[in-house]
Amino acid sequence: MPVGRRKGDKMKELSIYIHIPFCVRKCLYCDFLSAPAESGEMENYVNLLLREIKTQSIFYGDHRVISIFLGGGTPSLLPAADVGRILEQIGNNYSVAADVEITVECNPKTAMGEKLKHYITYGINRLSIGLQSTDDEELARIGRIHSYRDFLETYSLAREAGFCNINVDLMAGLPGQGVDSYRRTLERVVALSPEHISAYSLILEEGTPLYVNQSAYSFPTEDEDREMYAFTGRYLAEAGYGRYEISNYAREGFACRHNQVYWRRGDYVGFGLGASSMVRNVRWKNPQTHADYAAYVTRMMQTGADEVQQLSQEEQMEEFMFLGLRLMEGVDMEAFHRMFGKSMEEVYGETIAAFEAQGLLERKGCRLSLTLRGIDVSNMIFAAFLF
Ligand code: SF4
Repeated sequence: MPVGRRKGDKMKELSIYIHIPFCVRKCLYCDFLSAPAESGEMENYVNLLLREIKTQSIFYGDHRVISIFLGGGTPSLLPAADVGRILEQIGNNYSVAADVEITVECNPKTAMGEKLKHYITYGINRLSIGLQSTDDEELARIGRIHSYRDFLETYSLAREAGFCNINVDLMAGLPGQGVDSYRRTLERVVALSPEHISAYSLILEEGTPLYVNQSAYSFPTEDEDREMYAFTGRYLAEAGYGRYEISNYAREGFACRHNQVYWRRGDYVGFGLGASSMVRNVRWKNPQTHADYAAYVTRMMQTGADEVQQLSQEEQMEEFMFLGLRLMEGVDMEAFHRMFGKSMEEVYGETIAAFEAQGLLERKGCRLSLTLRGIDVSNMIFAAFLF
């Protein structure tokens, strides 16, 4: 592995991502690395994960773990005891901060009462529930396995089990979705008062059934899309949710620590099939097939990761800009100077001036951030910071 402990280094912060590549069945819009599990596959996979977590720990003696995120796929499909074994393995082999944030992604129908109670005893303190819509027809159209009622049951069981930090994932732009039904979804979710809401727009990923059969569906028009988008920001602000990233909203103190590490370019290591890592500006990705991943782990990682890339200074600058600008707090111009030995003006002066003149970027003290108009065209802005 490209990471090693250097003498004299201070304890650095580390985030851990665990990929669980299993789902009950594929949703029609999904291109994530996940599939239904064959018999015995989950158990074998967890054993490989445990081995990878332990073997890799020698590289992180100088790091303290500040967040752990079990994502997928559907981590809540795993038996609770397996989730416990994974967290125990991390606890036994890494230095973990006392206030570590531990998130598990779950799908309604796969996380019920006993499982959720076990999660609490393992120290899991954040649940991220994939709802997407409260309209059962919309859910069926995109191939979700659950109904709105299933979600309500999971949500109330999670509260009963003791979860005080819950995220709900929502989506706009679904086939057959209207502005009214999107509003209803948002209103119903806000009425439950989760601590965090992620509201993304559906992206038609090439090769997914929804992409292939898109002509058979009717999608919201561009105007409707814009209306849903504007309503999200307005309504959630009125309801007391601060927007801290383009698509993420939270009550005060509940922004997701783990995801902020990605946007701020902190160190993170991913375990499991296809998981990505970035530590000290070296990025790598685990193998993406079960056979290759098993070979990778059983040969004690001697085969190496799929893609290892030492980021050049230019690539680091690009990431600093397009990841940091996703956050509403924006990027710190002084931190840029400290990190790269050049001012942001020197590197991106013309680009920044042009966007400022158009009212798309704004400065507050030493921070540069997107304006509300800038958020609307964020992809175009991010692209302009690429060399
Ligand atoms: S539950 Fe999530 S990961 Fe699984 S198929 Fe659906 S969208 Fe993809």
